[in-house]
Amino acid sequence: YTGREPRDVIAGVLGNIRVQEVQSRPIVVRENASVYDAIVTMFIEDVGTIFVVSEGGFLEGLASRKDMLKASMGGKDINKLPVGVVMTRMPNIIVTYPDESVLRAAEKLIQHQVDSLPVVEPVQHEGKEKYRVVGRFTKTNITRLFVSLAGK
Ligand code: ADP
Repeated sequence: YTGREPRDVIAGVLGNIRVQEVQSRPIVVRENASVYDAIVTMFIEDVGTIFVVSEGGFLEGLASRKDMLKASMGGKDINKLPVGVVMTRMPNIIVTYPDESVLRAAEKLIQHQVDSLPVVEPVQHEGKEKYRVVGRFTKTNITRLFVSLAGK
């Protein structure tokens, strides 16, 4: 890295590490799962965002902690309320891809002010373009990478 600015070194390193090298396992529920079950899953799996999928593991939506809080404050029975009613839905989901750089994925987190991105692979399913969920990219992945790049 002789003769290069520290900024260029960092951009070079982060631009060369792929999402698939740091991603976590996706935590998913089906669209007809209740808000109650989604909250239980968040606790058991220790995640802040869960991905909602249809049969075959295709991305339909995503629900964050705040979505769950909002749903819980609405006065409805969260045992009867499907998570599909309160989630953020496709096509309004910001995603990343296994071979995208962590720098680009991190930019998406900042730009869209979200904590987590589904890692997806585009596939054709019944004549439609779908996203198969293969991972989860979060601020924690970046923090872990940050510490490991410092050799800790
Ligand atoms: P929290 O709500 O726990 O603070 P976020 O900041 O990630 O978590 O979520 C804020 C809002 O943005 C929620 O309504 C959530 O559904 C939505 N959201 C979270 N992640 C994404 C994403 N990758 N794409 C689109 N919307 C998202």
